[in-house]
Amino acid sequence: MANSDRIAVLLICLQLLPSGFLGHAAALMDSPLPSRPFRLGSVIAVRLGNTRSCVSGYGNGHAGAPVFRFCIPSWVAFSDDGAALVGEAAKDHAAANPQAAVFGFKRLLGKTFGHEDVQRESFPYKIVYKETSSTGTGIQVAKKQLLHVEDVAAMVLAELKCRAEAFLGHKVHYAVLTVPSYFRDASRLAAFDAVTSAGLEPVRIIDEPTAAALAHGLHENEITKNVLVLHVGGGTAEATVLVHEDGVFEAIGTWHDAHLGGDDFDRRTANHFLQLIREKHSVDIGNDTAKLWKLRAECERAKKELSDRDVARVSVNSIVDGVDLFEPLTRAKFEELNHDLFGRIMSVVDKAMVGSELAEKKELVDEIVLVGGSSRMPRIQELISDYFGGRQVRIGTAAVEPDEAVVHGGALLSHPTAGGYECLGGERRQFGASTDLC
Ligand code: AMP
Repeated sequence: MANSDRIAVLLICLQLLPSGFLGHAAALMDSPLPSRPFRLGSVIAVRLGNTRSCVSGYGNGHAGAPVFRFCIPSWVAFSDDGAALVGEAAKDHAAANPQAAVFGFKRLLGKTFGHEDVQRESFPYKIVYKETSSTGTGIQVAKKQLLHVEDVAAMVLAELKCRAEAFLGHKVHYAVLTVPSYFRDASRLAAFDAVTSAGLEPVRIIDEPTAAALAHGLHENEITKNVLVLHVGGGTAEATVLVHEDGVFEAIGTWHDAHLGGDDFDRRTANHFLQLIREKHSVDIGNDTAKLWKLRAECERAKKELSDRDVARVSVNSIVDGVDLFEPLTRAKFEELNHDLFGRIMSVVDKAMVGSELAEKKELVDEIVLVGGSSRMPRIQELISDYFGGRQVRIGTAAVEPDEAVVHGGALLSHPTAGGYECLGGERRQFGASTDLC
């Protein structure tokens, strides 16, 4: 990203901060780069997610736990006059103008234009060949905008950086970056470049399952040897078996499905109501983007409610010519509608277990950790507990929700004394040519 573009991104970021932050942000000092060892608050942890991205870290003088955590939708959109919107503002804009928004781009990071995964993707925006991109993969959105995938990611990361800086009251120059364990070198490098373009120097890169294990304090537990981490987010499901020894984790089996997550449950549930509307009103609203958008958002809300109760309502005003949709949805019906998706998640777990050669020795798995927002679904918790013979699973921690566990683990590594973790999870993977990520 050219310097002038980066400045534009950062300015946008400041404009989008909640009003309470603005006074704080205005007082930001551009302090010189702190020298190592780092001080508290000079390094932040960032997690670029497929649907949501988060930042977390310590404050000046707060030695205990990380003191801030902000998450935003991983969305970028462009208004009619070409201004860039990031996070909530982008997602809101997309509800009215889906063609002007970019999301789900984490899946494209580091993948060549000709890669079968890239060719199979289907988004409201166009994936195009871009000569100046190292992978050839570019994004065309809002007709005139032609972007590098890394630059879109950088816009989300720059927004997170801004929010952290506004909280801390000073500039931040360094970041711990978390990435999925299935990311190959090219994707890691692309994520690395995005962090750099956002104005941060990555000081450590850590696999997400390792970060989740850290968030649960498993590195402090000498008895824990094998850990299964299942991450189910909005768009991706990933299972990893880690071996733990003296505070160091190593992945011995991993499997993922890059098109399996909470969004699929929302789509499936919305399809059920589309069918109901067809039957009741003989009308198909499947091509009405705005109504479909509302229906999916409502199904997502109901899905979340069903994680805590047995019945939710799905209601959309005037879904068909002044007629409202107002229907109950039971947890049992939701689970029946999504039966095969739950099965696919368990297949991801089983494949990771087979890869680690522990599928026939499940009792050797000492800890089962669930992370990602979708792991709040009770059916996932039941199925995984059954798979391990009725064992207890860890979901979230007393202090951290499951969808924030990964960035929390990253934040623990941003602490100045985290050198004590000695390259935890990072040093065993040869990354690129020369980068020392520990
Ligand atoms: P993440 O990327 O980890 O933030 O996960 C995002 C996904 O988690 C989205 O599909 C959300 O709809 C889903 N999610 C968040 N909270 C819940 C909940 N309480 N029950 C079920 N799914 C949830």
